[in-house]
Amino acid sequence: MTGAPIFERMALIGIGLIGSSIAQAARQRGLVKEIAISTRSPATLQRAEELGLGDVYELDAAVAVEGADLVILCVPVGANESVAKWISPALKKGAVLTDVGSTKGSVVEQVGPHVPEGVHFIPGHPIAGTEHSGPDAGFPTLFDHRWCILTPTPDVDPDALQKLTAFWQGCGSDVDQMEPKHHDLVLAIVSHLPHLIAYNIVGTADDLETVTKSQVIKYSASGFRDFTRLAASDPTMWRDVCLNNKDAILEMLARFSEDLSALQRAIRWGDGDKLFDMFTRTRGIRSSIIEAGQETDAPDFGRHTASETVSSSD
Ligand code: NAP
Repeated sequence: MTGAPIFERMALIGIGLIGSSIAQAARQRGLVKEIAISTRSPATLQRAEELGLGDVYELDAAVAVEGADLVILCVPVGANESVAKWISPALKKGAVLTDVGSTKGSVVEQVGPHVPEGVHFIPGHPIAGTEHSGPDAGFPTLFDHRWCILTPTPDVDPDALQKLTAFWQGCGSDVDQMEPKHHDLVLAIVSHLPHLIAYNIVGTADDLETVTKSQVIKYSASGFRDFTRLAASDPTMWRDVCLNNKDAILEMLARFSEDLSALQRAIRWGDGDKLFDMFTRTRGIRSSIIEAGQETDAPDFGRHTASETVSSSD
């Protein structure tokens, strides 16, 4: 990006995978003039400094946000309320306050009441991530061609919204807007449920007594391996997501269980047509995701070079 920075001073509260990636993208693309970083543990703060992610490093989040015109909460969603209470008296009038949390209704409820008059609170969620955590996991291209969903209130300040939108676009994202409740419902099916299924299936395999652990690992490329990536995601983050998007997740889990029972019945009664129809319909969804540029069509998710012949779906 060329041109003047969008914000003068950005304060990142929390510097894990997402905070570190924002810091690197913003620095590389000239989106902000100065970056202040705060996190709760001295060890993580020191690591952020060693990686050169910011200009100012502060254990006290309230000090870090002083004078910032952009403040981004990059902590697990369950920690947002206490962080908001802490920084609230130090927020600058006119500042944009946002977050990156994977749930939005809970953030509106828990952070909203602590936002002082004159501060523009616009919750956000970049739909980009990996199973890794901590400042070392961040990289500047994480948000490229990924959606970032903002959930502003109807009375949002248009200039603040425009600047935050431009910031995320500068980070490489396409920006969309949604109602917080709708966001939580959509994310429950596209992200939260898949993670829960992955945690569950990997847990089930781990508990099996008739199949040894070494066999599970040895033959993992037959499908299991793709679940283990999701199931390696940060336990704190996912505990908080489940607790803070309870209603939507329970709704999706109920629908999933019903559909699974239908599948179970089709297998039990040898209803091949039903199985074939379902597997054909779902194949089309993957093609749509590839067409939308959200996935590679390389075999095996592009893991292997063409010279290797590995079959991953049997
Ligand atoms: P992360 O790598 O685990 O980093 C978490 C950061 O939050 C660290 O700086 C950590 O501080 C701090 N933190 C943890 N617990 C805290 C608490 N109780 N109070 C104050 N600070 C605390 O996490 P992340 O993956 O960057 O995720 C951050 C946010 O982004 C979450 O809200 C998550 O829902 C959202 N998100 C994640 C992904 C993803 O794929 N990971 C994608 C989109 C959005 P210390 O290290 O100093 O303890």
